Amino acid sequence: MSEAVLHVTVLGSTGSIGKNTLDVMARHPGRYRVFALSARQDWQTLLQQCQQFQPVYAVLTDPQAAKPLQDALVTAKLPTEVLVGDDALVAIAEDARTDCVMAAIVGAAGLPSALAAARAGKRVLLANKESLVLAGALFMAAVRDHGATLLPIDSEHNAIFQCMPAGYRAGMRAAHVEKILLTASGGPFRGCSGADLVAVTPEQACKHPKWSMGRKISVDSATLMNKGLEIIEACWLFDMPESAIEVLVHPQSIVHSLVAYADGSVLAQLGQPDMRTPIAYGLAWPERIPAGVPALDLLAAGKLEFEAPDESVFPCLRLAREAFRAGGVAPVYLNAANEVAVAAFLDRQIGFMDIPALVEQALSAVPAVTQLSLETLLAADTEARQRVSAEVAG
Ligand code: NAD
Ligand code: MG
Repeated sequence: MSEAVLHVTVLGSTGSIGKNTLDVMARHPGRYRVFALSARQDWQTLLQQCQQFQPVYAVLTDPQAAKPLQDALVTAKLPTEVLVGDDALVAIAEDARTDCVMAAIVGAAGLPSALAAARAGKRVLLANKESLVLAGALFMAAVRDHGATLLPIDSEHNAIFQCMPAGYRAGMRAAHVEKILLTASGGPFRGCSGADLVAVTPEQACKHPKWSMGRKISVDSATLMNKGLEIIEACWLFDMPESAIEVLVHPQSIVHSLVAYADGSVLAQLGQPDMRTPIAYGLAWPERIPAGVPALDLLAAGKLEFEAPDESVFPCLRLAREAFRAGGVAPVYLNAANEVAVAAFLDRQIGFMDIPALVEQALSAVPAVTQLSLETLLAADTEARQRVSAEVAG
């Protein structure tokens, strides 16, 4: 191995993407070293990760969880220093000693640290799609202006990136790409009617047929809001209009997305539904490394099917397109309303079909904000959350 070791910060290391990232890194100990890890409050998992990877820093954003981690690290005679709070996330993302940042916090909470990594010119492995939904223009400008290397980790966007012309970098408009075909598994409720969905439970919504993921994105996959957020994510990453992003339901989740060129060629990336493939791609780009993923057996997979999404049952696709076209803080409202509604659904306070209803309602009252900075975007996020929370409580 000729290159230097890559020092990696994993934001959200105790989550589904975070654990998969550490799994891939552990397969290549000579190539990657963990610089810092972070979690909200799960200090036990963070402790295990500190034992295995001995990072310089471990960050907890919940101050209550910091003391037990600190004590356990001292007892275990581990050198890792514990930092606390949201500012510490930004600090480990922009630290001069880290080369690469995996942004794998869930929700809008992941924006400030992901943006800090971009502004510090890091190699940014972006799983936190919400960053681009909230702050696409700001984020892509930061990547460009600070020479960051942005590698999409969301499986569809990683697939699209892989199908782009040689030399392609995120944010560029690729010549002669006419369309992006974004695949969707369809989630656990594919083929259901609106009436079928009224009484579904969080357990049913989180039981994804193909992917094992955190609870928030699992519910987003069930409402198809995940695909809505991904349409917006694709517009920013690939500098394409929303009208050029077509959603195709593909229940087998083997074709991870496709790119249609002007000469009639359509390129696709195929693989097992295992996030370690896009994660390994991001870690090693422009090289390739083993990811621990079994080889794809197309004969065992059998059929690959494609169908149109049913937007009458799953209105979130339309809502996301409308929010993107409206611009300003409309996507912030879309995302905030969705986060509050999903949390309320997981908490059994509202029904499944109340999620799109609350998002639609929030989108009908978006204030006009023209100056889009991190501060104004976060203020809009807070305001939208307050309004939707009041709606849920009322
Ligand atoms: P998860 O819920 O499994 O993990 C979330 C991580 O973020 C945890 O480490 C948690 O401690 C941390 N976290 C949560 N709230 C926080 C807060 N307020 N402040 C700081 N840290 C916080 O989520 P996940 O499924 O790993 O998803 C992470 C991100 O990756 C999401 O944006 C999701 O959309 C995206 N993504 C996930 C998958 C997947 O397969 N899981 C695929 C594509 C994209
Ligand atoms: Mg995805």
